[in-house]
Amino acid sequence: MASRRIEDLHPDLQPLAQTFQRRCADAGVDVLIYCTWRSGQEQDELYAQGRSKPGPRVTNARAGQSAHNFTIQGRPAARAFDAVPLVGGKPMWDASHPHWQVMGKIGADLGLNWYGRPSAPFREFPHFELAKGYQ
Ligand SMILES: [Zn+2]
Repeated sequence: MASRRIEDLHPDLQPLAQTFQRRCADAGVDVLIYCTWRSGQEQDELYAQGRSKPGPRVTNARAGQSAHNFTIQGRPAARAFDAVPLVGGKPMWDASHPHWQVMGKIGADLGLNWYGRPSAPFREFPHFELAKGYQ
């Protein structure tokens, strides 16, 4: 099972994720960070979904290619987290719900690459990634 621990994020991303959650809460948007780090094996299982296994395709990245697989000296240090707004305590997966735009703007204001923006390399609304400038 993939991690949702803030501690499994890149050291530069941890404080940004905490600020992100706080600013979203201040804006009245309850947010669940449901994925931080995942192992290469978990990544490959996810990649197989919609290809050799049933289900919708959810990623184009194989093991080691996703920002979620990043490590520093063998320790989890994900360069991205996946977040979903909670509405009435339940995940709101419909990306047309206005809370997604609030979340996206707050992430962008923090300098994160939000993959729900129209200019993203591919659209993946829950995905917030550390900008390239960080080592
Ligand atoms: Zn992601």
